[in-house]
Amino acid sequence: MTAHIIDGNALSAQLRADVSARAALLTERGFKPGLAVLLVGDDPASAVYVRNKVKACQDHGLHSVLERHPATLSEASLLARVQALNADPAIHGILVQLPLPAHIDTQRIIEAIAPHKDVDGFHVASAGALMTGLPGFWPCTPHGCMKMLESIGYELRGKHAVVIGRSNIVGKPMALMLLQAHATVTICHSATPNLAHHTRQADVIVCAVGRRGLLLADMVKPGSVVIDVGMNRDQAGKLCGDVDFEGVRLVAGYITPVPGGVGPMTITMLLINTLEAAQASAAAEGQA
Ligand code: NAP
Repeated sequence: MTAHIIDGNALSAQLRADVSARAALLTERGFKPGLAVLLVGDDPASAVYVRNKVKACQDHGLHSVLERHPATLSEASLLARVQALNADPAIHGILVQLPLPAHIDTQRIIEAIAPHKDVDGFHVASAGALMTGLPGFWPCTPHGCMKMLESIGYELRGKHAVVIGRSNIVGKPMALMLLQAHATVTICHSATPNLAHHTRQADVIVCAVGRRGLLLADMVKPGSVVIDVGMNRDQAGKLCGDVDFEGVRLVAGYITPVPGGVGPMTITMLLINTLEAAQASAAAEGQA
């Protein structure tokens, strides 16, 4: 058996075509969706991520602003920038690229973002909304994973999902989304003894650790769905996930590749969240 590949690029292209069409309609009504991206410091990986996000906005008819600040920017100055963007009617979504320099309290900055502009879904109001099943922005990466499951028509009700990783941006929200879809969810982390014992029982595995070769073929139940969030480099410096793709694809029913899997979906969900924020703003003004 060779697993079907869930192609994140193809699914993204489909979803982004819809983003373009909806953005054009909102623009016609004077609500061009706008995203502000704040980058502090000169981390090369962060620079690539923000460039990709801004380019995706440009490609799909969204307004975008990229603010680059030196690593020496004070916390107070960054807070002031966030507050100014909160008040800017052309900006519907605000994204502060992480990690921030050590002298800045990341959580304080995230909490300063107006929840209705929190398109990354990291604000406690967004986390609380997800926790309680209320409307709010969902973090883009796990939301993208849910869209991938939806794209194959996978019925999560009654299934056993194992999430490996418990970060606030991927693992925990992923587990809550799966729970909301009526899966039975197990969360594994670095203190979980015998990871394979859990993964072998899973119908769905979401691997979000950041360790190459973490999930091997003998840890996977035949026919299961394997979503690989991890982003690592192999010995040759090539991008790879947490899953031993070549081995696991011979056992799983569905698998996401790296690259071309969850990565493009993350940016797609950011575009969708920004669009939803603009839509909500138009609705608040009685225009949608
Ligand atoms: P993180 O904050 O470092 O969290 C990693 C999680 O993995 C932690 O909960 C950690 O457990 C757990 N872990 C570490 N070693 C483990 C082990 N041996 N067995 C089981 N669990 C283990 O990372 P993150 O931000 O969630 O990101 C995870 C990965 O996804 C990274 O590779 C990141 O680059 C990638 N990522 C990709 C995208 C994308 O768009 N494709 C987006 C976000 C992140 P403890 O909590 O016990 O330490």
